[in-house]
This record gives sequence, structure tokens and C-alpha cells, in this order.
Amino acid sequence: MSTDPSSGDLARARGLLEDAARVFILTGAGISAESGVPTFRGEDGLWRSYRPEELATPQAFRKDPRLVWEWYAWRRGKVSDCEPNPGHRALARLALARPARIVTQNVDGLHEVAARDEADGSDWSAASPLELHGSLFRVRCTECAYHGRDRADIDATDRDTLPSCPECAALLRPDIVWFGEALDPLVLSAAFDEAREADLCLVVGTSAVVQPAASLPRITREAGGSVIEVNPQTTPLTDFADVALKGPAGIVLPTLMGD
Ligand code: NAD
Ligand code: ZN
Repeated sequence: MSTDPSSGDLARARGLLEDAARVFILTGAGISAESGVPTFRGEDGLWRSYRPEELATPQAFRKDPRLVWEWYAWRRGKVSDCEPNPGHRALARLALARPARIVTQNVDGLHEVAARDEADGSDWSAASPLELHGSLFRVRCTECAYHGRDRADIDATDRDTLPSCPECAALLRPDIVWFGEALDPLVLSAAFDEAREADLCLVVGTSAVVQPAASLPRITREAGGSVIEVNPQTTPLTDFADVALKGPAGIVLPTLMGD
């Protein structure tokens, strides 16, 4: 594994980035690795004796919402202790400065934190990510259309203390795409539009095997754009990419952007 992309690759990637009128940025769990976000399946990601497939489902929530909320409270706490790394920050600066859209598979909210930090009090919406799988810090109502962002502590000691809807008082649930659930079609079509309209797709820290995210770089390519991959490992996209920058996002992205 190299952490130092060859200068030829770096120069080519810089050229593609400079020439791009519009950039589509697709990120996965790898962008948050250097922030110490626990992976679902790693040792840090395990909670009690449960597997994520037993808790991250609509059936589990119907059966025992308190247990599922308790798990999400624990995950929120773990992620709240993490900070965006230089990779998140470099992407936020890019999206604030130029036509670019961040589309993420992550649920950790770190792109949003980086966007707010980098905007430093001004409008950060240009760097607000499209969250394909939802977010640990978003909630939605189980009965009405209410949805919102929420970083408050969750009290999951009892069914009655669980978060409730400010509009209809019904139970709120994490706004996360669970196993067996479809992605929000509006979010998905917005992501496909972004991929199609961009002339550069920057793919960062995703193993490029989970659909439909894995096909988005191909949409950019089919529409005539280029693809840059940033990942220390080889993925199914590596050979397909115009340039593969092999290294950790927290080092490669600031270097690519000339920071
Ligand atoms: P993945 O775990 O399948 O792949 C992660 C990729 O990141 C790998 O290819 C790895 O080589 C690469 N990587 C590791 N360290 C890196 C670094 N420092 N810089 C750049 N790349 C690095 O993740 P995925 O493709 O996002 O798919 C997994 C699914 O799990 C997604 O659906 C996602 O929602 C979910 N998930 C999210 C989080 C999070 O929110 N942070 C964490 C774990 C899993
Ligand atoms: Zn409601």
C-alpha cells in the first residue's frame, strides 16, 4: 500500500480537477477512517451481542423501539466523539468554492460538521452532502411526514422517554435506510442527476460494491466525464478510473487540492 501517489498521477488528477466545470464527489466509510469512526462490523462497532442486521431493520424497531433507539444512542455517542479529518475539510472547501456536490453513503454526519466549520459562519449549504443512507443525526416521524435534524441526547431508558414527533406526538425513528428498506427515490434521482451533470467524479473511500452508489461513477463516465479514485486499496473501480490515487483521503485530498 502506497501513501504517496506518483507525481504523474497527482499532476493528471490536478489537471482533471482544474478543468472540471462541475464535480461530483462520492464518499464512503473510508473518508471517515482517519476520524476514527467505528465501522459497523469492527470490534468497536459491535454492541452487546447484537449483529447490526438484528437491529437496523423496520421489524426490529416495530418489535422493540426502545432497544433500537438505545443502540442508536450509543452509535451517536461514539460518532459525536469523532471530528472531521483533513479529507472532509478539503472536500468541504472544494464544494464551498466551486460547483460541486458531495454525495455520501456515510451516516456519521461528518461532512456536515466540516461544511459548517469551513464556512465559518457563512452559508454552508453548498457543501451540505446528499446522504444516500440517511444520518445518525436525522429523525423522522413514524406516522406523519415530519423529519428533522437532531443532535440532542436520546433517553432510551423507557418506551415513554423515546423521542416523539413535535407535530403529532407519535414515535420518531432514526432517519436511516435500514436493511430491507429502499433508498429515498428523490435522493437517489438527485444523486444520479449530479453524477450525470458532472464532468468529474471524485470517488473517495468506498469499496464500490454496494449498489446503487457503485454505479454512480459509471454514470459520469457514460455522460463523457472523468473519474478519479482516492483509496489506499484496489477496488472494482480502480482499473475503470482515469486516475487512481492510492493513499489515505486525509493526506491525498488536501494534496490534490493544493492546500
Ligand atoms: P466499505 O467499508 O465497504 O469500504 C471502505 C473503503 O474505504 C475501502 O475500499 C477501503 O480501502 C477504503 N479506505 C480505508 N481507509 C481509507 C482512507 N484512510 N482513505 C480513503 N479510503 C480508505 O465502505 P462503503 O463503500 O462506504 O460501504 C459500506 C456501507 O456501510 C455503506 O453503505 C455505509 O453506509 C455503511 N457504513 C457507514 C459508515 C460511516 O457512516 N462512517 C461506517 C461504516 C459503514
Ligand atoms: Zn408526526
